[in-house]
Amino acid sequence: MFRATFWGVRGSIPVPGPETAGIGGNTSCVEVRCGDTLIVFDGGTGLRMLGQKLMKEMPVQLHLFFSHVHWDHIQGFPFFAPAFIPGNQIHMYGGKNVSGTVETALAGQMEMPNFPVHLSQLPARLSFHNLHEGQRVELAPGVQVTNAAGNHPGGVFAYRVDYRGKSVVYATDTEHYSIPDPKLVALGRNADVLIFDTMYTPEEYAGQVGMPKTGWGHSHFEAGVALCEAAGIRHYVLFHHDPAQTDALVREKERRTRAIFPSAEAAYEGLTLRL
Ligand SMILES: [Zn+2]
Ligand SMILES: [Zn+2]
Repeated sequence: MFRATFWGVRGSIPVPGPETAGIGGNTSCVEVRCGDTLIVFDGGTGLRMLGQKLMKEMPVQLHLFFSHVHWDHIQGFPFFAPAFIPGNQIHMYGGKNVSGTVETALAGQMEMPNFPVHLSQLPARLSFHNLHEGQRVELAPGVQVTNAAGNHPGGVFAYRVDYRGKSVVYATDTEHYSIPDPKLVALGRNADVLIFDTMYTPEEYAGQVGMPKTGWGHSHFEAGVALCEAAGIRHYVLFHHDPAQTDALVREKERRTRAIFPSAEAAYEGLTLRL
């Protein structure tokens, strides 16, 4: 079994409400299952709901990979119920940002007066793994996770999971600049699925609508198509939707993407892909 399930698909800030209920308003969190190995990408508010599901599978061992530690990628962790249960084991992985590690960022958001329980008081066993750029980790026999650095203020890692000859790439909070990012092209070579930051429309990114977004560390749906074509990736999932995008606007983004790359879809909460 190799599958990916989306628990949070939004960027920047959660946006609950009637206009976003179809796609979902939770921030970034994707669960990947490779047989018995449980991998989670990012701890946005979607992580809370995944935690509720995992409470029925105790004890759990999971591998939580952070793309980076901006708030929309860590803010669900203090509400992740399995972290409050002794006997669970949580391995956490991420790069060393200029401002510190995953551990210092997670501890920081749980300090008084922001949160009543400190990271060091959590009953689950937490292990922190600082990754270097390009590192590959083998989580179980035949389950590999490889990273590559993207382009984002403070730094970001994209990840690729390989299992039984199939692969999925998780690349959010990044932008290409003039050509498809060579590091992401190498990471994504012949992958089955790309999950990619499509925060903006091409018009918004270029500044034809509002101010130009170059250098802000986010992409648009045409940039993801360029990456799929350069790397030979088969299926493309639009991810990290802008908080201002209603269900209708996300569907419009999906429709425009499919016109140029038919095997594409917009991520929504509850979407499951079988690889
Ligand atoms: Zn983000
Ligand atoms: Zn970010």
